[in-house]
Amino acid sequence: MLAAKCPGQDRRNWKPEDIFEHECPHCGSWIEFWKTDAKRTCAACHEQVINPKFNLGCALWCAYADQCVGDISSIFMQRPEALKDRLQIEARRYFKDDLERFQLTEEAARIASSLLETEKEADPPVIIAATLLHDVGYPLCQGEGTGEQPEEQARCIREKSKTVAEEIMKDLTLPQGVREKALDLISGESSRDAEDLNLQLWQDILEIARLKQEKGAVDAKPSEGAKPSETELKALRQKLGSENARKRLEQLL
Ligand SMILES: [Zn+2]
Repeated sequence: MLAAKCPGQDRRNWKPEDIFEHECPHCGSWIEFWKTDAKRTCAACHEQVINPKFNLGCALWCAYADQCVGDISSIFMQRPEALKDRLQIEARRYFKDDLERFQLTEEAARIASSLLETEKEADPPVIIAATLLHDVGYPLCQGEGTGEQPEEQARCIREKSKTVAEEIMKDLTLPQGVREKALDLISGESSRDAEDLNLQLWQDILEIARLKQEKGAVDAKPSEGAKPSETELKALRQKLGSENARKRLEQLL
C-alpha cells in the first residue's frame, strides 16, 4: 500500500512548525501531523482526518489523488472550500457565454463561505453545492419559445439545473445524502419547512447576492458599487430567514 504522502513536496528544508498537532474533528484527541501527510488516522477514534495545512491544490486534479489522499469526496466533505473551488470551475463551463450570471453565482459562493464560518447548524457541502449549481441549467433554457413565458422558463431552469447538478455531483462522488439535499434545494422540491436551516440559508445567500448585483457591487472593491439604501436594507432583512444572515447582513454587502 502507498504511504499517504504527497511526492510533490521536498523535505530537506523543514522548519519546526512543519510538524504540528491538530485536534481530531471527530473525537477531540490530538493528532500529530507532518506537513507532508495528506491525512492521518486518529489513534483514538480511528477516523481518517485530512491534514488541515495540506495544500490540496494538486490533489483536486491529480489522477493519482486517490493514492495520495484517499477518496476525494472525503476531502470535499471535510473541506467545503475545496468543494467550492472545484464546483466553481464546473459552473464556469456552463456560463461561458453569460458572464453576468456566472458573477452572480460566484458572489453567492463568496457569501456562502462567509456565512458558513459562523453557521454551525447547516450542512456546508449541501449549501456550497446548491449555491454554485442552482442555475447551471439556465443556458439550456434559452431556446425558442421559453424566453416569452417566464414561468415556463423558470420551470425549465429548475429541471435542467437539477439534471446537470446531479451529473456533476455524481462525477465528484459526493455522498448520496449531500446530493439529494442539494438537489431538493435546486429543484424547488425541498420541504419548504420553515425550520429547514439549509433552505433558509441558501435562499438568504441568493437574496443577498441578487441585491449586490442590482447595486453593481458584484466583483467590485468595497469602495465601488452603490450601497443599498436604508429602505432596501430593511426590505431585504425582512426577507431573510436565517438569524446569522440577518445579523451579518451589512458586513456581507
Ligand atoms: Zn479522533
